[in-house]
Amino acid sequence: MNPKKIALTFLTAIGLLGGAGHAIAQAPAKPNVVILATGGTIASRGADSLALTDYGLSKGLQPVGVEALVTAVPEIQKFANITGEQIFNVGSSKLSIDNWLTLAKRTNEILASKNVDGVVITHGTDTLEETAYFLNLVVKSAKPVVIVGSMRPSTGMSADGPLNLVNAVALAASPSARDKGVMVSMNEVISSAFSVTKTNTTNVATFKSLDGGDLGYMQNSTPYFVAQPLKRHTVHSEFDVSNLQKLPRVDINYTTLGSDGVLVDAAVAAGAKGIVNAGVGHANMPDVTLQSLKAARQKGVAIVVGSRAMSGIVTPVGQFTEAGFVTSMMHTTQKARILLMLGLTKTNDPKELQRMFEEY
Ligand code: ASP
Repeated sequence: MNPKKIALTFLTAIGLLGGAGHAIAQAPAKPNVVILATGGTIASRGADSLALTDYGLSKGLQPVGVEALVTAVPEIQKFANITGEQIFNVGSSKLSIDNWLTLAKRTNEILASKNVDGVVITHGTDTLEETAYFLNLVVKSAKPVVIVGSMRPSTGMSADGPLNLVNAVALAASPSARDKGVMVSMNEVISSAFSVTKTNTTNVATFKSLDGGDLGYMQNSTPYFVAQPLKRHTVHSEFDVSNLQKLPRVDINYTTLGSDGVLVDAAVAAGAKGIVNAGVGHANMPDVTLQSLKAARQKGVAIVVGSRAMSGIVTPVGQFTEAGFVTSMMHTTQKARILLMLGLTKTNDPKELQRMFEEY
């Protein structure tokens, strides 16, 4: 038994991760949901109820563990038998690619159990969309996987964590949430990992799908779906990290008026196998940046040209395809980076990579 695993099982379903002889049938009415806790504001404490931006470790306040997180919201037991596991406990800006691989492998391990119906991952909101999209591409199950966080610490006035957690568990326990790809459930909105992005630094309504729209809504902790993802995900994905110990380095270069290619050259020198250029408009950039990207491509570095605009499609155009560049299609640059990292585990061929950017 994993020592980090904390059994938070309520009623009779102890051992739902496969202990022989545990009578899961004793609680047949409720699905079994595993909560994997990674940290973030949802697990943070502030000095007082009005400490809404300055809280947590920076104030010397240790985060709460998964057990406290779950027992603070007994309402979740209405929807599922819960097992909690503390996989990490850090702010999401501190998570690493190693953490991603650990999380993906553990999520797949848990979902492979016939006694598990869904997984909820609690996560800091800063990079939540990145983890959601990464898992969307590498989870090997049609069972619901829901990522949730909160914008206000658990001690904050009008904390949003408790209802977000209840809704996430209810969603993960719902058969209607199967085969929807990895979902983000925040502020009563169900979003696809493909399209969701954090748009506001502090507002509880920060997560939006600027292209693609919402997948559905939670009302009285019941999911109401209005859409189905058409992009490849989870069981429909070709990517597999089960045997990977690391991912190729991919850097993002941010374009502004008057910017140059110095950071592109630095990325190549640092060993980047891929570079995503956050261009302006439809992936435009200064000539000097274009020259650096072309030079990087000549050295075998995969180049994806995208946009710093938060919405819209970057489709292939002559000057980019001729240079052997891939266009980002509907991916924000932070998600294009993830897809390129995974794409590079399969191929460096721009045509194949472009296919991936159109299919995922
Ligand atoms: N700093 C936090 C994090 O991403 C923010 C949050 O969770 O809302 O871990």
